[in-house]
Amino acid sequence: MIREYNIVVVGCGIAGVSAGLRAAELGADVALLEKAPKKHRGGHTQYSESFRVPSAVTDLSEYGYEFAVPDYTPDDFYSDIIDRTNGHADSSLARAVADRAGPTVEWLTDHGVDWDMEPLAVGYVAGRTWCDGDEVVGTVIEAAENQGLDVFYEAAAREIRKDDNLQVTGLVADLDDERVTFECDGVILASGGYESSPEKRARYYGAGYDDMKVRGSRYNTGDAIDMAVEAGANAVGQWSGAHMAIIDAEAPDVEGGANRVDGYQYGVILNVEGERFVDEGEDARAHTYAKFGQEIFEQPEHRAYIILDERMNEHARATGPSEPSVAPTPQELFADLDIDTQTATETLTAYNDACDPGEFDPEVLDGNEASTLLPPKSNWALPLEDPPYYAYAVTGGITFGFGGIEIDTSAAVLDSRERPIPGFFAAGNCTGELFYDNYPGGTGLTNAAVFGKTAAESAVDYVNS
Ligand SMILES: Cc1cc2nc3c(=O)[nH]c(=O)nc-3n(C[C@H](O)[C@H](O)[C@H](O)COP(=O)(O)OP(=O)(O)OC[C@H]3O[C@@H](n4cnc5c(N)ncnc54)[C@H](O)[C@@H]3O)c2cc1C
Repeated sequence: MIREYNIVVVGCGIAGVSAGLRAAELGADVALLEKAPKKHRGGHTQYSESFRVPSAVTDLSEYGYEFAVPDYTPDDFYSDIIDRTNGHADSSLARAVADRAGPTVEWLTDHGVDWDMEPLAVGYVAGRTWCDGDEVVGTVIEAAENQGLDVFYEAAAREIRKDDNLQVTGLVADLDDERVTFECDGVILASGGYESSPEKRARYYGAGYDDMKVRGSRYNTGDAIDMAVEAGANAVGQWSGAHMAIIDAEAPDVEGGANRVDGYQYGVILNVEGERFVDEGEDARAHTYAKFGQEIFEQPEHRAYIILDERMNEHARATGPSEPSVAPTPQELFADLDIDTQTATETLTAYNDACDPGEFDPEVLDGNEASTLLPPKSNWALPLEDPPYYAYAVTGGITFGFGGIEIDTSAAVLDSRERPIPGFFAAGNCTGELFYDNYPGGTGLTNAAVFGKTAAESAVDYVNS
């Protein structure tokens, strides 16, 4: 069976729906293919909740929105990406995300996306808009369908067709029980990452990672990335790196969503041997939660406990599913956990002794350090001595992998000779070279929306040329 379109978009997360909407509103005839059934559409985006936005240059006031942190600039955003990735992020992609984020969020708002500007947790240092990812996907798809977009669910992209001039001529997909050829001049890949494949987790992260919990969609198995590489796309970025977050130890194996436990930066994190192993107060939560998940997964039994006292627990935020253990003394708390009680008690005593607190401020890096410890604690080091005591059982859950295919700032896919493949564009988590080692919270959605919109503009220019 053959169907004809100007442009075919693969995937209906925020990158795909942004691409679909933008291409349709620019007058293209667009099909969007989504591997999941309609009720599971939305990829990882459906589980997400915040966009990082350069609030200093983003005006949402006509819609009644004010940023909680109003002075975050594109330069701040750019620096956060470069700093968090230890200088490895491709600077031109980072610059494009930082500079285009404001107009992209204004454009989404214009199309009916709703925001909540109240920060969900303390410790954020950037301009953020908060949202219900599932609702965002629904709102943008509806706007795109109103512009004529056709959406095909349970449609898995399998092969990209090119002619003798290496130009894209179409895409073959499994649609229901048929193999369908979508003839088109432009393909936009927005198929997310490879992290939901146990085979790829073991391949890229090592033994044991096939067993790691997957926070997002089960459908992000990287088969469309393989398809793109087969069509000549260059595989780039940090394939062995990933956003792995601190999550509830009892979170579901897949599609648990947030399962967040915030507030660890105000206490200590102990492994089952009773030892500390990270600088809990190294930075704001938004700048550490995406890497500490892996540190926890690397600990014995892939587990750890966040320990807080009553005073610090006021700043914790846990979305479940489990409840923390609570006890009047540290000894009774540890006795209730699967932990080396004696070492845990000694570690907590040494921590309390090493604290030399000044004024506590949970909203900024407050400089209260416990520098004599190994590892040290760089901020919010206050003795935990206000009963009762709380223990949150946590593990590491994968959010998304950092490898992907290469694009330039116009979202054109580059081949392994670094030349654009005519008619082939990509956006979001299926692309590489933006994130390495760590991640500034809220940048995944922003990156995917920015490049989804950019990919559509480039694809429409290309098919009209
Ligand atoms: C629990 C959780 C919370 C998160 N919270 C945040 C947050 O608050 N802020 C933030 O910035 N980021 C967050 N992220 C990361 C964020 O979700 C991603 O960076 C972003 O959604 C990527 O968008 P995307 O469109 O590239 O991919 P996705 O939203 O994952 O969409 C990819 C789509 O492609 C489809 N697909 C895959 N293969 C094929 C194929 N062969 N054919 C057709 N379709 C295919 C998938 O089914 C999926 O629907 C979170 C992620 C998770 C899992």
